[in-house]
Amino acid sequence: MRRTRPVHLILLLTALLCPRLGEASPQTAAPAQSASPMPKVRLLATGGTISNRAGGRLSAEELIRSMPGLERYARPKFEQFANVASSQLTLKQWLDLARRINGLFKDDPDLSGIVVTSGTDTLEETAYFLDLTVKSDKPVVVVGSMRNPSTLGYEGAANLLDGFRVAAEPASRGKGVLVVLNDEINSAREVTKTDALRLHTFQSRDYGVLGVVDADRVVYYRAPVTRHTKESEFDVSSIEELPRVDVVLVYQGATGDIIKAMVDQGAKGIVIASAGAGATSGTQGEGMQYAAAKGVFVVTSTRTGSGRIASRRPSAMASATPQLRIAAEDLAPVKARILLMLALTRTKDGAEIQRMFTQY
Ligand code: GLU
Repeated sequence: MRRTRPVHLILLLTALLCPRLGEASPQTAAPAQSASPMPKVRLLATGGTISNRAGGRLSAEELIRSMPGLERYARPKFEQFANVASSQLTLKQWLDLARRINGLFKDDPDLSGIVVTSGTDTLEETAYFLDLTVKSDKPVVVVGSMRNPSTLGYEGAANLLDGFRVAAEPASRGKGVLVVLNDEINSAREVTKTDALRLHTFQSRDYGVLGVVDADRVVYYRAPVTRHTKESEFDVSSIEELPRVDVVLVYQGATGDIIKAMVDQGAKGIVIASAGAGATSGTQGEGMQYAAAKGVFVVTSTRTGSGRIASRRPSAMASATPQLRIAAEDLAPVKARILLMLALTRTKDGAEIQRMFTQY
């Protein structure tokens, strides 16, 4: 048998590794071989771990500079929308962010897509809000990182470059708001943070990824079929304030007085993160009946992390007004809250709200 000489092994390894090395190194990056101009992609930086450098947060401009090889995929533009942890973003900032994105797409027909950086803790909430309020089928890609720029193994620049590639990719159009971390593309509606620390934290559980971002290309395997972005009926162009909607967790021996307090403090809707497929505990049923008596909508979701709540009367609500009871379908409690807030900007009709929960 012929033995492989070391020099051949080196040549073989170089050939195999070449695309990855080329992508990571600006010196070896080849100019785009295309007649059409490079896609224009705009970054809206909002903060989060991806920019949380010890001694001072990275600016939007510094984030752009952190990506070697970006020029192979996009003409970047950038702006600093905010620079805070995701859980510090206000509902007013959500409204402003959606309006800003809609304005950018309207004013610049050449814009191919938008990347939004966010902290990861409540990233899925911001992403789903945008999924329901962005009025374009052009890609909006939300990106974060689990390790900060001062940490060994910071993956923020890699995630951001992936985000730019996804935003520049024509196949990303019409798929709703996308969440990109860890080389994976997930739907804003489906994805959730599943681990406090690990890099593979963003999962769509039973549904799985929409696609992946590999060294050679962005690959899609499926697309969401629920209503979103351009097909959404929600319009935040002139909304100053979203109605208050709170989330209540079900646990053994829970008291209903918390629900009553929410109603008394002005909640227009309450999402129950129920045990299993709709169970409440302790005196929560009394709290829910109090809410119904005050005309407050109650949406039943599940705290299990996956599965569906079908539209039927939960036993704890048996005596409450039926049109105020909504089933969250498969939406996570925090996302059911967002849909209910937006639904309440359009209607106070329970059947209409339930229709929305079956479509979005
Ligand atoms: N993990 C935090 C978040 O979700 C980021 C912390 C920070 O930026 O201060 O936003």
